[in-house]
Amino acid sequence: MNCRHCNTPLKLVFVDLNNCPLSNDMLTQSQLDQPETYYPLKVYMCHSCFLVQVDEMKKAELIFNNEYTYFSSFSKSWLAHAKRYVDMMTVRFNLGESSQVIEIASNDGYLLQYFKEYNIPVLGVDPTANTASIAISKGIPTIIDFFGSELANKFKYQGIKADLILGNNVLAHTPNIDDFVQGVKIAMKENGVATFEFPHLYQLIEENQFDTIYHEHFSYLSFITVYNIFKSQDLEIFDVEELPTHGGSLRVFAKHTADTTKSISPNVQKLFDKEIKAGMCTLQYYSGFQSKVDKIKYDFWKFLIMAKKHNKTVVGYGAAAKGNTLINYCGLKGDDLIKFVCDASPFKQNRLLPGSHIPVKHPDEIKQLKPDYVIIFPWNLKTEISEQLSYIKEWNGKFVTFIPEMEIFTAKKTEIRSSIKQKFYSIRNVVAAQIALIQSDGLSANL
Ligand SMILES: [Zn+2]
Repeated sequence: MNCRHCNTPLKLVFVDLNNCPLSNDMLTQSQLDQPETYYPLKVYMCHSCFLVQVDEMKKAELIFNNEYTYFSSFSKSWLAHAKRYVDMMTVRFNLGESSQVIEIASNDGYLLQYFKEYNIPVLGVDPTANTASIAISKGIPTIIDFFGSELANKFKYQGIKADLILGNNVLAHTPNIDDFVQGVKIAMKENGVATFEFPHLYQLIEENQFDTIYHEHFSYLSFITVYNIFKSQDLEIFDVEELPTHGGSLRVFAKHTADTTKSISPNVQKLFDKEIKAGMCTLQYYSGFQSKVDKIKYDFWKFLIMAKKHNKTVVGYGAAAKGNTLINYCGLKGDDLIKFVCDASPFKQNRLLPGSHIPVKHPDEIKQLKPDYVIIFPWNLKTEISEQLSYIKEWNGKFVTFIPEMEIFTAKKTEIRSSIKQKFYSIRNVVAAQIALIQSDGLSANL
């Protein structure tokens, strides 16, 4: 495999998550009678341009198909994030009824709907017909296709050019990232702006977010690599924001290099300095990640075995890609240790998780079963989810997250538990801290 940006042959493995099925391929009962395809999930880093990447094991066309079950509008906090962005951009770049906004990976129209409310003309692009059809039903024109230079040229011949072109969580999902950015260049007006949000590789490494690695996610991006990829297509990043979304994302603002109407924000140099200081342009920075990932695997098993031994019931919440990466890397199969995983999306309910075959149920099933522990797989939404499920305290139920490290908490006791952890970290005895947390939940450490 060669680097998808600079074409250097890749030699260095960043982390190897072994073989697993596609994280978003939810199964039906009848599919259990058929063989399931597993793909290697080995992540490489380019020693020349530092782009961290996985090979395109399954063609993007086969991943983002009609069975794609991720609908952005199911997360209230994501909708609020989209609304704040629309308000900020409308004011900052003076967008109005004569402007054109294009969103790449517009999903079910979760974001463009807010521009539409301001009568700003919008156009969505998304290859997944089932999400796009929902957007179209909301009156948001959507092209069902992949974005790249080819589609951008079609827009050009139709006279469509964007004052604002944006994409959230798509840059990392595109196998031919250079052609994608070239498309942005073609589709953007002379004085236009492009913004992209993507999870920051810095956070992935610092916070052990290995469960954000999955086959649909082809590249893992630092600011420096993204800056250079844009530069190679004659685009310049003139501002950048650090966001809390998805465990820590970046929002970059790009313009044509020749556009002199926008000044370069000091944020650009600040983030360069932060990444260089952290060592992101050295090979050493990327070593040692595998052992951090393995430690989470051992904690996951330790928790599940102790819970089983003490007749505690465990369920999960959030049948998303993150949970599948964690479960499949740990090698868990069947529903004896995690009874089921709940999800608010009706498109996932009554299906089974790929690989582990844990059933997916409606969140109300938690009220029926009254489990002792609810593992929150999308740890980035743990505040939102623990508030929604705060009723589990009625039967003394507790929440568990595994990233950046194992934590057991109740809504009320979070602060106390953090202080316990802090005390143990001060003597650098992380294992003792975890055992203490489990003991405080009534589980003996007597394995
Ligand atoms: Zn490279």
